[in-house]
Amino acid sequence: MRAMKRKLAAGNWKMNGTAAALEMVRDLPETHSTDVVICPPAPLLYRGVEAAKGTGIGIGAQDCHSEAKGAYTGDISAPMIADAGARFVIVGHSERREGHAERDRDVRSKAEAAFAANLTAILCLGESAEERAADNTLDIIAGQLSGSIPDASTAQNLVIAYEPIWAIGTGAVASPAQIDEVHDFIRARLIRRFGDTGAGMRLLYGGSVKPGNAADIFASDNVDGALVGGASLSAKDFAPIIAALDAS
Ligand code: PEP
Repeated sequence: MRAMKRKLAAGNWKMNGTAAALEMVRDLPETHSTDVVICPPAPLLYRGVEAAKGTGIGIGAQDCHSEAKGAYTGDISAPMIADAGARFVIVGHSERREGHAERDRDVRSKAEAAFAANLTAILCLGESAEERAADNTLDIIAGQLSGSIPDASTAQNLVIAYEPIWAIGTGAVASPAQIDEVHDFIRARLIRRFGDTGAGMRLLYGGSVKPGNAADIFASDNVDGALVGGASLSAKDFAPIIAALDAS
């Protein structure tokens, strides 16, 4: 199934990096079957687009508001992100769901705003350590899928990132068996809801992906790429992850 899709390595810089950090895009490897996206902080979007010119690397934002404009101090809208030349936006990251009290319906509205601005939404979901310990992982994922994924989703405008919260920034990567179980579940739900379109949607894993574990994670047929936090900040770490994905 994966053979039909281009793979995707997306870097989430979170609240890290100033303009000088963008120089790393020049040190990322050329790829054959893998798209590469960097999501720097919002003030770097335009400069990121400039820095990535001619490299094939896409630039994305880390969040957007659900409205196109208005009295929302401090927020940025999807049309503004597109206007800066970016083509992607992360929505529903667990740090937004937790730190900014975003609910599934907020995430869905943000994804719809992204679609309206011709951006591809990288929509994150995943369970907490407590939810996994209580054996509720698949129920949580099912609720997030039905609550946050818009009906207008396609294989072009939506990428899903499964990010177990307990694996983000902790070094505690999910095992290939855990990733397989959840990715297979998500894939089955997507196909049930969207048919062939659901089979074509890219499904990323995120949570402590590093050069040393990337090849094992990418060995699964149902992993179409990775959303990478800490290891996307330097070419030294992100380049081998991209290379491992491209070779998988
Ligand atoms: C993330 O922020 O989406 C993430 C997966 O972070 P890390 O790779 O640092 O765990």
